[in-house]
Amino acid sequence: MKLKIFWFREDLRLEDNRGLFEFTNSLNPNERFLFLYIKNENSFNFFGAKRIRFLYESLDELKKSLNNLGFDLFITKGKSTEVIKKISEEFEEVINYANEQPEIYSRNREEKVKKISNVQLNLYTDSTIFGFNEVLKDDGKPYTVYTPFSKKFFVLLNNDRYKNFKADLSKLHTEKEFKPKKILVFDISGGLNEIDDIGVIKGGRSEGIKLLKKFYDGGISSYKKFRDFPATKGTSYLSPFLHFGIIGIRECFRTAYSKLNKSQESESQEILTWIKELIWREFYYNISYHFSYTDKFSFKKEYDKLNWRYDEDSFRKWCDGKTGYPIVDAGMRQLKKEGWMHNRVRMIVAMFLTKDLFIDWRWGEKYFAEHLIDMDFSSNNGGWQWSASTGCDAQPYFRIFNPVLQSKKFDTEGDYIKKYVPELQYLPSKFIHTPWEMTSEEQEMYKMRINIDYPEPIVNHQDVKNLILSEFKKISAN
Ligand SMILES: Cc1cc2nc3c(=O)[nH]c(=O)nc-3n(C[C@H](O)[C@H](O)[C@H](O)COP(=O)(O)OP(=O)(O)OC[C@H]3O[C@@H](n4cnc5c(N)ncnc54)[C@H](O)[C@@H]3O)c2cc1C
Repeated sequence: MKLKIFWFREDLRLEDNRGLFEFTNSLNPNERFLFLYIKNENSFNFFGAKRIRFLYESLDELKKSLNNLGFDLFITKGKSTEVIKKISEEFEEVINYANEQPEIYSRNREEKVKKISNVQLNLYTDSTIFGFNEVLKDDGKPYTVYTPFSKKFFVLLNNDRYKNFKADLSKLHTEKEFKPKKILVFDISGGLNEIDDIGVIKGGRSEGIKLLKKFYDGGISSYKKFRDFPATKGTSYLSPFLHFGIIGIRECFRTAYSKLNKSQESESQEILTWIKELIWREFYYNISYHFSYTDKFSFKKEYDKLNWRYDEDSFRKWCDGKTGYPIVDAGMRQLKKEGWMHNRVRMIVAMFLTKDLFIDWRWGEKYFAEHLIDMDFSSNNGGWQWSASTGCDAQPYFRIFNPVLQSKKFDTEGDYIKKYVPELQYLPSKFIHTPWEMTSEEQEMYKMRINIDYPEPIVNHQDVKNLILSEFKKISAN
């Protein structure tokens, strides 16, 4: 007997899901089928509680949506290969339908599944607009710089690329659904009850749709203007939904282009800027796919010779938001509290860790991975290597963000800082970015004593800048 499986991974939606569309189209009325999700133990080792909660909320809603149609989502935990092998033992042939993922660990997993003798794996492009071998240079090689990648992307783009793949589940017969008996079910409601650590973004497709709609009605039209200011809600907050495929990338493109087609010239630049951010995501997915060594090494391999500091004490202060630089501390505290951080601030804190503290980007990448709800291997790795200047198309090493100037420019009144660093709430904007410049009288007046209520800066930016530059220059000279 034959079984067809739809293997949900980072595509947790029934709507406009390419793999699911192909799966339902392929099924004939007599075939057995199964909707499967495997909570892979390995990937969960470094997931933070807020992210797991977000995932469980999303799985719970997906399961309920399938239940409403008379089907089930079989959720289990373990190693994907072992689970699929166990299921396959009950059938002569198993055909798995799933969507492509770029990361090396997912692809290794897929290779193992393909090796099971009676199992076939069919993969489809869904997490990106183009397949990983489609946006290539004229010589067939992958791009390593964003701008030419995005130019080629736009040349290849037409609206067929973001058409809606509507899977017709009504043609499936509930009695043909396979219910595995030899594998333990993972109880998602029980899992949810165990985690009370709630992040700032709630999971589930209905939440994602609400955010997308809200963004379409408002934020997208002023995205370019406000996206860099962490005290404003100038971005879409869709990244965890995009990562888990709760909202699909084609839905985002349809949303953006539908708005663009109705917009005035002045508004269109705002919308195009958002589309270009979506393309940054696609670019980093391509980098992960074609340069899989970046999961452990610097994209520019020579920078793995940098003499990074592995200073636990400074690293801990950075993690805890106690560096004495208010904008850095606000960002790190936001991350711990909400499982989230604004993109501008992600760049500032990442640059601070790698340049001011000269600590290996891999420490920061791991810490983000443990705390971000939207942790996405490719975008996180890309963002970290960009900030550390070790990545493809990275910030050149000599362009080091000055955390004070960044703070003054993007959080001028200190509203964002005050929200996350309450010790500084009475400071006027004159001192909010540099509290160490206050006299002791001013410190008394604004109820904040340096080194008692709030630390002095862990390093002097100007002093360390030259040291770091000389370390980078040593590598570049070789
Ligand atoms: C050090 C560092 C680490 C990061 N780690 C992650 C991560 O783990 N997961 C993640 O999704 N993003 C990461 N980013 C990128 C970016 O910060 C987030 O995607 C963004 O803040 C999410 O907010 P939003 O959904 O409101 O984005 P919007 O500004 O509304 O953008 C829309 C979508 O485009 C994509 N996007 C936007 N900017 C980027 C970017 N620079 N790189 C890649 N994709 C982008 C995201 O999917 C985002 O949801 C990181 C950036 C840096 C500098």
